[in-house]
Amino acid sequence: MAIKAQKGTKDVLPEEYTQWKSILAKADEIFTTADFRQIETPIFEATELFQRGVGDSTDIVNKEMYTFEKSDRSLTLRPENTAGVVRAYLEHGMSRDIQPVKLWYFGPMFRYERPQAGRQRQFHQIGVEMFGVEDASADADCIYTAVKFFESVGLQNLSVELNSLGCNSCRDKFRAKIKTLLEPVLDKLCEDCQKRFVTNPLRILDCKSEDCKRIFEENKILENLAKLELCEECSEHYNNLKVYLDMLNVKYVENPFLVRGLDYYTRTVFEIKSESLGSQNAVCGGGRYDNLVETLGGQHTPAIGWAVGMERLYSLTEKAEPQKVDYFVVSDNIAEALKLANEIRKYGKIAEFDYSKRKFAKQIEKAAKIAKNAVIIGETEIEQNTVSVKNLSTFKQKTISREEFFANISR
Ligand code: ATP
Ligand code: MG
Repeated sequence: MAIKAQKGTKDVLPEEYTQWKSILAKADEIFTTADFRQIETPIFEATELFQRGVGDSTDIVNKEMYTFEKSDRSLTLRPENTAGVVRAYLEHGMSRDIQPVKLWYFGPMFRYERPQAGRQRQFHQIGVEMFGVEDASADADCIYTAVKFFESVGLQNLSVELNSLGCNSCRDKFRAKIKTLLEPVLDKLCEDCQKRFVTNPLRILDCKSEDCKRIFEENKILENLAKLELCEECSEHYNNLKVYLDMLNVKYVENPFLVRGLDYYTRTVFEIKSESLGSQNAVCGGGRYDNLVETLGGQHTPAIGWAVGMERLYSLTEKAEPQKVDYFVVSDNIAEALKLANEIRKYGKIAEFDYSKRKFAKQIEKAAKIAKNAVIIGETEIEQNTVSVKNLSTFKQKTISREEFFANISR
């Protein structure tokens, strides 16, 4: 039986990749002008990096990691890239460089999730990380960079959802409040939430179960949490962020339920959503992770970042035209065709030939399907150093010197 791609994995076919490349070119342009530099970290890392970095109580670490043993070592295919980038930041002494250090990445991530529309087991993320700035201007700059990136690839009608989880002491307060509010109805919550109640009560807010959501509503969790205030510093940080975003004309909606699925976030968290994605509607998620560098063995270093899912982003963009050959060389002299096609390629044009001595009519028939122009070199053309160029949409043809031909295509 033929072997198929594994469940939750997908081939990125050439038509799709053309579009991916143009998305990546925009990412490179937008991030580079904002002074981010690209980094690539290995696809597998020590399992411990994610246990400590992403957090033991998260779904990702508990259920979704691809972990395997090799030479007595526990290794894991990266489920996300922030932990790896922080590891690299520390390993290469980037904390001693001029701060902020601003990095971006692109590559595959692996999570053992239930595959469905917008959710795969191997998917790709584009992301940015910025180390060394505590001021909310860094948060605003990162969010604005994401918004500009989305605009540059033609996305509209996105909504930015914003929240602040505060610092450790704010979160202690939130946790305690959530526990007090939910303790009386704990046995009605889903199994996951009952576990979260012990390991990570904040995460309860992120529960997708309709029953749990209804219980939150009945118990006015949101209203009660909204009454709790962030500490003075966190509240100032959050207010500053909103002022900066207003100044940049970034529209956002505050969402007190937004807690995000990873343990490392502090203060700012945000998601960028698109209604047209259906139930998996988040295209970008991110936030501040001021404790992560320290958790992974470095000095206290404030940091912020976000990641975009390439597959979800791709599904929202208008599809690129399939690639067409600029010049298809038609000849029964394979050597001459091979040579001319390669000369044309030097001008940055897409050139192809038939790799055969088939009849010209057959070659032109093929050219008409895949190319914009046919460049015919029969015996006469080769002798006289000319080419006959046939425009394959108008079917007009003219014979010109090679010199003129190259002068034309270099324009
Ligand atoms: P979700 O709530 O959709 O599970 P998440 O909070 O787990 O998202 P992050 O870890 O923040 O997502 O990753 C950022 C982005 O990566 C998401 O907004 C989404 O576009 C994409 N993403 C995450 N998980 C998957 C997946 N399994 N398949 C495809 N894309 C994904
Ligand atoms: Mg998820």
